[in-house]
Amino acid sequence: MKTFLRLAGLTRPFAWWMLLAALIGFATIGSGIGLLMASAWLITTAALMPALSALQVGITGVRFFGISRGVIRYAERLISHDTTFKILTRLRIWFYDAVEPLAPARLASYRSADLLKRIVDDIQSLENIYARVLAPPVTAALVTLLMWFIVGHWSLAAAGGVLASQLFAGLAVPLLTARLAAGTARGVTALQGEQQVLAVDLVQGMSELRVFGMADDYTTRLHEAEVKKLALQKRAAFIEGLHESLTGLAMNGAVIWILFSMVPLVKSGEVSAITLASVVFGVMASFEAFLPLTGSVQNIEADVRAGDRLFEIIDAKPEITAPERPEAFPKSTAIEINNLGFTYPGSDRLALDGVSFSVPQGGRIAIVGPSGAGKSTIASLMVRFWNPAQGSISIGGQTIDKLDPEELRHNIAVVSQRAYLFGQTIRENLLLAAPEATDEQLRNALTLSGLGELQNRLDDWAGQHGMNLSGGERQRLAVARMILQDAPVIMLDEATANLDALTEQALLDTLDRTSHGKTVLAITHNLHRMERYDEIVVLYEGRVIERGSHEELLKSDGFYAGMWKLQHGKEM
Ligand code: ATP
Repeated sequence: MKTFLRLAGLTRPFAWWMLLAALIGFATIGSGIGLLMASAWLITTAALMPALSALQVGITGVRFFGISRGVIRYAERLISHDTTFKILTRLRIWFYDAVEPLAPARLASYRSADLLKRIVDDIQSLENIYARVLAPPVTAALVTLLMWFIVGHWSLAAAGGVLASQLFAGLAVPLLTARLAAGTARGVTALQGEQQVLAVDLVQGMSELRVFGMADDYTTRLHEAEVKKLALQKRAAFIEGLHESLTGLAMNGAVIWILFSMVPLVKSGEVSAITLASVVFGVMASFEAFLPLTGSVQNIEADVRAGDRLFEIIDAKPEITAPERPEAFPKSTAIEINNLGFTYPGSDRLALDGVSFSVPQGGRIAIVGPSGAGKSTIASLMVRFWNPAQGSISIGGQTIDKLDPEELRHNIAVVSQRAYLFGQTIRENLLLAAPEATDEQLRNALTLSGLGELQNRLDDWAGQHGMNLSGGERQRLAVARMILQDAPVIMLDEATANLDALTEQALLDTLDRTSHGKTVLAITHNLHRMERYDEIVVLYEGRVIERGSHEELLKSDGFYAGMWKLQHGKEM
């Protein structure tokens, strides 16, 4: 109930539009009732062969309701769809605004297909909340009231019976069928989620699955989920059929009751037979309002489920919150890392344990160490993807938690080993770093990063995850982004990993040239040309075990010297 009220609350800004659409929905069914009543009146009156002029009222009525029904139905569709799309737009913006601060720390535990399903399908299914959950009961209640007055005008006993069958069709049938269908919508949503996760894994991991001979296994699992989903959908279709029959039963019951209670009035002359025919047809038409109600009750379940899945993410507390009054980004970019400690959620091992070092403005520091030493964790803490558990990071004497995280990230250009390329053009991938950049600047950045040959291919598609480019080109594109971002602090996280020796040399030259005068932190376990760095910080199991220049560290013949000699094939 809480979820439903929260969801309904989100549609509050559109309350007047929703009310208008529900009223027009009522007017549409009202026109249908009017059309059938006028038609019944016309046919029965005409059967008595009166003068043509006596039929004029009926003919006008049929024309009026026939045309108005179409026009009003059109207006109702227009307004209700417009309202639904307005609600969907609001929901999407609201969800995105809530999700963005959660990335990446709070989203790490969700699979991407699961997140995709929440963002696309769950929000899409909430479109029902107005069109199929909130509006139909309002329309049905208004139609019930209308029929009470119409039928009650001739016979209260008949009106009582009609009311009873309408309550049966409007309350008992939806509650009963919703009970029978309990869990169906939930099951279908869960299975769709499972299918999406499997399908994404199947497509993205096709090469690995083929190599390990597991592709068939995945296809079977996908098929099994489909079979289960179809069984549930079949059940849902059966329940829908049951609902329609029960509503039909209620309608026929109402008709029989009207005949039972009004035929004596016809016989006694209190009510004309023509009126009786009109009332019967009007009541039949009124049951159109009750058909969507089962969907309404069933959709509550699906909406609440979708809402729960969305609120689960939304209610997660962001790891990072921007300070209320952030300090201006400092002029100096000297970096001070003081006693930094951090443990990843769910892990009992310290990823960083009392790490301290500093980088002067314009200085170059390399952080080296074996895999898992905590190097990338320092990078994540620098751009505030996570908050440190202990210690602090300051830039220009200002601890980074006092700065606006957006501005901080804007001022730190990160080139990582796994730079993400979007399935868009090369131009769009570059503009991400500098949306205002001219083509001239883009070409210049490409040339500087050694991608001169892409200069005239700015509008080429980079492929899914940049698949149309080689690994080296992808990495150099990341460097081009760094050049365009022109940030005063540069963080290179294994920026030249996986490159052949020649390409690596060329890229290192580019990086040296383009990062001149900037504060550079380079994370690497490839110990090439290390004399370029003012200082090297050696991390091991989250701790700084050595610090010094390349020569000093070689001289001291410690861990670094061992790593270097191993990589350069020297005797130890
Ligand atoms: P590599 O050179 O292989 O990239 P690294 O020195 O950069 O390694 P980190 O990525 O900082 O190492 O990881 C430090 C430790 O934290 C490792 O033990 C790793 O398993 C763990 N770790 C890293 N990321 C996460 C995460 N998101 N959740 C849990 N533990 C993590």
